[in-house]
Amino acid sequence: MNVFSHPEFDNHEHLSFFCDPETGLKAIVAIHNTSRGPALGGCRMFPYTSDEEALRDVLRLSRGMTYKSALANLDLGGGKSVIIGDPRKDKTDALMQAMGRHLESLGGQYIAAEDSGTSVPDLKVMGQHTRHVAGIAARTGFDGKPSNGDPSPATAYGTFIGLQAAVQHKLGRTDLTGLKVAIQGIGNVGYRLAQHLKHAGAELWVYDIHEDNMRRAVEQLGAKPATAEDILYLPVDVVAPCAMGAVLNDDSIPQLRATIVAGAANNLLAHPRHDAMLQERGILYAPDFAINAGGIIDVFYERTGATPDTVRAHVERIGDTLTEIFNRSDRAARPTGAIANELAEERFQKHTAGAGLAPERLACAG
Ligand code: NAD
Repeated sequence: MNVFSHPEFDNHEHLSFFCDPETGLKAIVAIHNTSRGPALGGCRMFPYTSDEEALRDVLRLSRGMTYKSALANLDLGGGKSVIIGDPRKDKTDALMQAMGRHLESLGGQYIAAEDSGTSVPDLKVMGQHTRHVAGIAARTGFDGKPSNGDPSPATAYGTFIGLQAAVQHKLGRTDLTGLKVAIQGIGNVGYRLAQHLKHAGAELWVYDIHEDNMRRAVEQLGAKPATAEDILYLPVDVVAPCAMGAVLNDDSIPQLRATIVAGAANNLLAHPRHDAMLQERGILYAPDFAINAGGIIDVFYERTGATPDTVRAHVERIGDTLTEIFNRSDRAARPTGAIANELAEERFQKHTAGAGLAPERLACAG
């Protein structure tokens, strides 16, 4: 397994591999860039079938966090961690505590939050052994409702705002009544996105590998059930992938019938060239790291004591950022993903090391 010459390495500042035989923990922490501040990003638990698959995932996700935080104008760097294991079978408190000890040994260069396969209680268990976890503080959320620290509601709201901006740009409409949207993955983010869309009058199609998640959206939101095979290819206005990455690829793009792709999943493009492929097909792609920044914005403010209104206003600026990306893309006749990358690079390359917030301002007390 290559590391420094790995195709996704992209000059990561730091990689650490952690193994704890007693608890069965095998984890990788990747810190991509800390020029804007300490690296903050989710800790994902997933049953990777190989070490190579886990390494590739953590490198791609970690780099994405640098771009996401810079684009959202947050004083944070980019990092991510993965735990190799099935969250439904292998997760124990001892395993999470071992992860917490590892995070503590990194001294706050990396701060972990929730991601697929981990939740607020897991992060709290890690927090028994480290200050360097976030997304766990109970407070009034950006929407004025009680929050346990879970960033998913803010991610879903930001995705909804970004989807609205994409609809306005592509279809010239602000009213979502009757808008047809297909959502792949009805988990923490996908279900809440479906709620916002339902409230705005949209017509929904949903698919999730877990039957119970899908049934909830069908029964409670009146969504129509779709299948694994057709969810991305329905004759809808918008496809919103909210499950996993790399779903925009050589096979899927020619079959898309929607004219907008706007979803929360990270790393939607299987390869950077798929950005141009979408543009050539006349499909407006809302870059994933721009539209799904609501969660990192929410977690950033957790320790600053900002008011819910401040957090909400920052999340809502996702719509402005996307509109700027879409306009620049039109003017330059270049794909939206490339434009978003350049905007982010301008923002994190300008910063010098140590210019961001000190780690202790962001770390949680556990
Ligand atoms: P989640 O695990 O709660 O939900 C994901 C859902 O997708 C689950 O219900 C799962 O059953 C389903 N799923 C998995 N594989 C599928 C497939 N092949 N087809 C259809 N459904 C499938 O995760 P989440 O927190 O809702 O996050 C969703 C996506 O958004 C992830 O890619 C995550 O990295 C990204 N994201 C989440 C946040 C956040 O705040 N939670 C922030 C930014 C990005």
